[in-house]
Amino acid sequence: MRSFQESEDFVKRLFKSYYLKWRGDPPREYHKREYAFMLSRKGEMIRHISFENWNEMKEFLVKNVPLHVFYSSAYYLQPSAPEMEAKDWIGADLVFDIDVDHLYTSCKEDHDNWMCLDCNFNGKGVAPEECPSCSSKKIESKAWFCEKCIDVAKEEVIKLVEDFLIKDFGFSPSEIEIVFSGRRGFHVHVESDIVRELDQRARREIVDYVKGTGLVLREKKKKLLIPPLNAQGWPGRIARGVYEIINSRSTHDVAKLLCLKKGKGITEIEGQLKKILSKLEGAEGYWMLEGEACKVWLKIAEKAVLNMRCEVDERVTTDIKRLIRLPETLHGNTGLIVSKIKMKDLETFDPYVHAVAFRKDEVKVKIVSMPKIKFLGQEWGPYRDTIVEVPLGLAVYLICSGNAIISDEERRHHAKGDI
Ligand SMILES: [Zn+2]
Ligand SMILES: [Zn+2]
Repeated sequence: MRSFQESEDFVKRLFKSYYLKWRGDPPREYHKREYAFMLSRKGEMIRHISFENWNEMKEFLVKNVPLHVFYSSAYYLQPSAPEMEAKDWIGADLVFDIDVDHLYTSCKEDHDNWMCLDCNFNGKGVAPEECPSCSSKKIESKAWFCEKCIDVAKEEVIKLVEDFLIKDFGFSPSEIEIVFSGRRGFHVHVESDIVRELDQRARREIVDYVKGTGLVLREKKKKLLIPPLNAQGWPGRIARGVYEIINSRSTHDVAKLLCLKKGKGITEIEGQLKKILSKLEGAEGYWMLEGEACKVWLKIAEKAVLNMRCEVDERVTTDIKRLIRLPETLHGNTGLIVSKIKMKDLETFDPYVHAVAFRKDEVKVKIVSMPKIKFLGQEWGPYRDTIVEVPLGLAVYLICSGNAIISDEERRHHAKGDI
């Protein structure tokens, strides 16, 4: 399809203009890293590349205009060796990936949809593993993100960085870097000598800790030792989680949360909840909970763990040879900048404002479909099969994500590559 190719060329020209002005910082010890690139949507990944001089990276970006740029979280003695075994692994950063793809957000029902490529059966929300109509696994999903999803992901990042990495593990904020992934998530990099040599098993333990996996809570002869709210690590986290659940809900809602039967169940736990709450508020050290209240505590604690744990993608953290997006490069499926974010700016960070690379000009695009989006502070859409003049950044976003092509009029306008 000619117009499709022309849209791709249009995007490539813009990417090139971005890389001509590019001033991205090198990752720590950049010459020990492997770099990888995807030059086209259907092409293979070019990898096993290394740079002795960071200027070579910029030259590569300008010359090849890749759609996706990655670097290894690992450090190697021979980063450009074509066989993984020959690279001589010397260590790796500790990397976490928090992605809206893996988080539950109710707004996905509004802005995501999917279609079976075999029978065209389609639906809203998260794509199923297989088509409910014909069981085909060829499912195309259209995933978007909105303010709500990004806020949920941000909360997970704050939890990970402040509660786990700084408070529990004792990393210094200067060793932690937060990066917007360029699509709908965040990467958290820990660059510290302490983590560098950790093997896969050690990283797996870190993931289990952060996700609260395998936390076993037991009572002994109807007795439970309860931590104070300010206890360190998971004990305090569970106590605070239980407190939060009881304190923010009515007895009726707590009973519902614990799936207790109406009536008798509620009157029974009312007194127990009050007792737990006042004990938690007053306790300065560990205290003993006894009797039937132990069961109530354990049930609430199970829910508290789910609230207090952090949803990280374990495959990313446990992979010691992971390729991860290079900060300040463009994401080829969105055209957004893979952006470094300071912790203090995270709360106000808006990808559709702060990660937009192309901020000037408007162009006409033929939009296949898009939900309502707030882009550069203004609401756009929903659109379906319409030609609209949109900000250049949004046009790039829609073309890169396969939801629009450049309109005929614009094609004539930009045919000479004068953008
Ligand atoms: Zn189907
Ligand atoms: Zn959303």
